[in-house]
Amino acid sequence: MKQLLQDFLNLFFPDCCYSCQGILLAREKSICTSCRANLPFTHIHKLNPEQNPVCQKFFGKIPIRFGLAFLKFTKSGKVQRMLHQIKYQNQPELAQILGEWYSSELQSTSLQSAFDVIIPVPLHPKKLKIRGYNQSEYFGRGLVKYLSSIFEPSALVRTTATATQTKKSRLERWENVARVFEVAKPELVRNKHILLIDDVITTGSTLEACGQALLEAEALSVSVAAIAMA
Ligand SMILES: [Zn+2]
Repeated sequence: MKQLLQDFLNLFFPDCCYSCQGILLAREKSICTSCRANLPFTHIHKLNPEQNPVCQKFFGKIPIRFGLAFLKFTKSGKVQRMLHQIKYQNQPELAQILGEWYSSELQSTSLQSAFDVIIPVPLHPKKLKIRGYNQSEYFGRGLVKYLSSIFEPSALVRTTATATQTKKSRLERWENVARVFEVAKPELVRNKHILLIDDVITTGSTLEACGQALLEAEALSVSVAAIAMA
């Protein structure tokens, strides 16, 4: 009976696939079967760090233990469309759906128990106010589902203080830029393997600044994960 009602409702209010916008069949959820089979997955969690393109972005900057990205970002592709919905069309639940999906892929690997704490990159307070949510937090919330880690969305904060630069010395200016991120809960970080979460990995400079703050707070090691890599 319940299925019948669902099918009836779907006639008038069909659910669409987040990825291709096609109408979902009754037993499909959020993303259609065809997209689930054909999205550009990176599978980079199967590579060792020397071959891993996410780890390579951080060579010579900060040590990154594991580099993870679920999808490959291509301009005007399905991944770009999904990221656009997540960031600009008020659909953070899609980030969580992708996180849970990636989590189920990692569940059967040694990464299931590799990370102690999962921490998303905090959004700038101004952006958070406009958007109303942090998309990386939603992805992290999904990712923790099948992993034996704890999720700590407030362990890292973005400092708002960007005092006028003109009267500062060069060193002070450098410190002012470098101190964009601060560890708010050092006790959750010390001697822990942290998985840092971002939405897209491009240059990696934001993740690098966060990783630096975590290592200064005596994190044991840092890994990074994102929905997509450019
Ligand atoms: Zn689809």
